[in-house]
Amino acid sequence: MATPSGPGKPGESLRDKAARKSGLARVRALKRIERARTRLLVCFWTLPVYITGVWLLLEERREIDVFMLVYIAIWSGFALDMARRNCPGCGRQFFVRNILINLMIRKCVHCGIPLREVPSGIE
Ligand SMILES: [Zn+2]
Repeated sequence: MATPSGPGKPGESLRDKAARKSGLARVRALKRIERARTRLLVCFWTLPVYITGVWLLLEERREIDVFMLVYIAIWSGFALDMARRNCPGCGRQFFVRNILINLMIRKCVHCGIPLREVPSGIE
C-alpha cells in the first residue's frame, strides 16, 4: 500500500514522518547552537594571543586601535550569535537566563535540553 505522503521510508505514516522530521530539525538546531558555543570558546582561548599581540605592538610603539577593534568586533559577533540562539524545545534563549551568557553550560538554561541528546534505546 502506497502512502500519500510522498517519498519516505516504506510503511511510514504521516505522523511518523512528521515526528522524524521534527526530531531531525531539533538535532540540527542543537548542532547550530553547539557550533555557536564552540566559536565563542575558540575566541575565548585566543585571548593570550590577543594580549601578546597588543604587548608586541605597544613595545614597538605602534597603534593598537585597529587590532583592538577587530578583536572586539569578532568577540561581539560570536557572543551575539550565541546569545540569539533559541532552544528547539522551549523556544527561549538557550544560553541566556538573565543578562549573562554561561559559556560552560551544555544544556538549555530554561528547560534543560542537553546539546547532545542521547538517542533513545542507547541508555
Ligand atoms: Zn529550552
